[in-house]
This record gives sequence, C-alpha cells and structure tokens, in this order.
Amino acid sequence: MRNAKKTCLGKCCLGIESSADDFGVGIATFEGEILANKSDSYIPLEGGIHPREAARHHAEVADKVLGEALAKAGVKPSELSVVAFSQGPGLGPSLRTGATVARALASYLNIPLVGVNHSVAHIEIGKLKTGASDPVTLYASGGNTMVTAFESGRYRVFGETLDIALGNCLDVFGRSAGLKGKKGLPVGAAIEQLALKGTKLVTLPYVVKGMDLSLSGLLTAATTALQKGDCTLEDVCYSLQENAFSMVTEVTERALAHTEKKEVLLTGGVAANKRLQSMLAIIAQEHEAKFNVVPLEFATDNGAMIAWTGVLAFKHGLVTPLDESFVKLRWRVDKVDVPWIQ
Ligand code: AMP
Ligand code: MG
Repeated sequence: MRNAKKTCLGKCCLGIESSADDFGVGIATFEGEILANKSDSYIPLEGGIHPREAARHHAEVADKVLGEALAKAGVKPSELSVVAFSQGPGLGPSLRTGATVARALASYLNIPLVGVNHSVAHIEIGKLKTGASDPVTLYASGGNTMVTAFESGRYRVFGETLDIALGNCLDVFGRSAGLKGKKGLPVGAAIEQLALKGTKLVTLPYVVKGMDLSLSGLLTAATTALQKGDCTLEDVCYSLQENAFSMVTEVTERALAHTEKKEVLLTGGVAANKRLQSMLAIIAQEHEAKFNVVPLEFATDNGAMIAWTGVLAFKHGLVTPLDESFVKLRWRVDKVDVPWIQ
C-alpha cells in the first residue's frame, strides 16, 4: 500500500469480493451510501467449495454481476473514482479471479486500485450499517471466526478459532447429515431451523483454550453422535449450536470485560443466526454494552463491504499499485493499519 496523490478524490468506489464462493460487486459513495450490492454464488454439486470451480464460476459471472451493480447504482464506469478488491484472506484461485477483474477495470479506466482486507471489510460494513463506532466484534463466517477490537492503530485479535471456522463447522456437519444448501437457504440456516425443534442436550465437547477456541472435535463428536443413531438430528443440531455458540460468546464476553468497550458487533454469514444473536445480546446487556448485528444483506460476503472499506482506505491516502496487488491468502486482520480510526 502506498500513499495516494490527493488529487483524484472522487465520488464513488466499486468493490469486488471474490474470496470464496461468492462473487460480489458493490458500489459505495464517499459519504457511505451503498448504491448497489449484487452477487452470484457458486453452489457446489456436492461437498464443500472446490477452489478451481469457484474461480471458474467467478470468471463466468463477473461481467453479469458488474453490469447489474452499475445498472442498479445508475453509475457509468467512467464515473467511478476508485476500484477496490478483496485482496485476502481467502482461497487463492477465487481471490485471483476478482483481483484480475479489478486490475483490468482500474487500468482501463485509469483510476486507483485499492486492495482491501476481507476481515476488516466485514467489520467496517457492520459499523456503517449499525452505527457502531468502537465495538468488540465477533466475526463468524464460513472461513473465519475471530473476536476483534480496535487498539493502537489496528483491529487486534482477542481470540480466534484454532482450527475450523464456525460456519464451516456447521456446513460440514449439515452436509454429513444430508442437509443440502439450496439457493437462498445456507446449510447453517437449515441447522438453525432444525435446532428449534431440539429438546435434549447431547453431551458434546466444549473447547475454549485461553482466549481461543477449537471446533473440530465438536464437529467430529456431533457427526458421530448422529451416526450412532441414539439421538435425533434435531437434538444434535440444537446441541451443536448451543456448544459452538456458547464458546464464541464466552470469548466475546471476556474480550468485552477486558476492553470495557460499550458496543458488541456481530458480523459475517453466521450473524444471521437468531440463537447466536440472542446469546450475544445477553452478554452485551450484562456489560451495559449495546448489541449490534449487521443486516442480513451485508452479513455474508458482499461487494458493498469491499467498496466501503476501499473508500475509507482511499480517503486516508492508501492505494495499491499494480505491482503490489498480488493476493494474500493468509492476510491477518491484525496486520492491517486502519488509519481512518483515531
Ligand atoms: P460467509 O462465509 O460470510 O459468506 O457466510 C457463509 C456462512 O454463513 C456459511 O457457513 C453458512 O452456513 C453460514 N450461515 C448462513 N446463514 C446462517 C444461519 N442462519 N445460521 C448459521 N449459519 C449461517
Ligand atoms: Mg461466502
């Protein structure tokens, strides 16, 4: 990232998200209005995300999604001021496809390119859409699970998963139980519905180590419990949710107690879950903090969050030259300077 020449401040930024299964394009004004947020998701025929197939999907739909976003925003390409893209973390082939589209667009239009950290973008869109200003954030999605809060120039990680992400834990369990994610209904949402009918708490591992947590043992135990056949799918879904959500809530509460911040923010795809929301609302209330949850449209991976974070970065003088625009598969949130926060 280098300092931008402050001569080309303009009106809006187009953001491209492509870190995993979603190809999203969003357009944000420099004042924080989201003019468009369009996406198309790769749905595997079976199993989890195949990175090469996801990248092929993204390349196939890029033109269509870009066109939809520009049409929705009522913006011509020539009116764009900045192009932002998700530079990492994520799956290499998926990230590279979005980065290639972003580079081509920025070069053709001769406007600045801004590489955005995907995790920072989830936090920033949550703040923009809820009005939270300095929250302890639980970011829980298909690929990431972490508790962060701003301190000394960066979002610091107070606790995180040591193995798989919360959404991934739910997705792998759900698929092994034969639950298929259909368009509009993620596997995590199918588990949420079944969990509502669960009545018996099945004994499953609860693994919090210091401020970090581990979900892979819980996943194995939940899958085994179901295969043994001595408990119902509804009870296992209920128990899996209770344990996994209690673990992330415990870590969030401890970060809240330590930082004494007055806001909690839930963001990422798993933020859609009402049971998780209710657990976090309780700990927020106990610490006299306001609980905020990102609206559903902006919970899962989306282009608008990249566009808005691109605006924040660009307005603070950050641009990404082409020769530094390579993707960063393991780009941690705590390696990113966020000069827009004082
Ligand atoms: P993301 O990685 O941010 O695009 O979010 C996708 C993840 O969110 C997947 O793991 C989904 O299963 C999960 N998800 C979506 N809706 C829900 C829900 N209602 N409850 C739990 N997980 C969900
Ligand atoms: Mg996704």
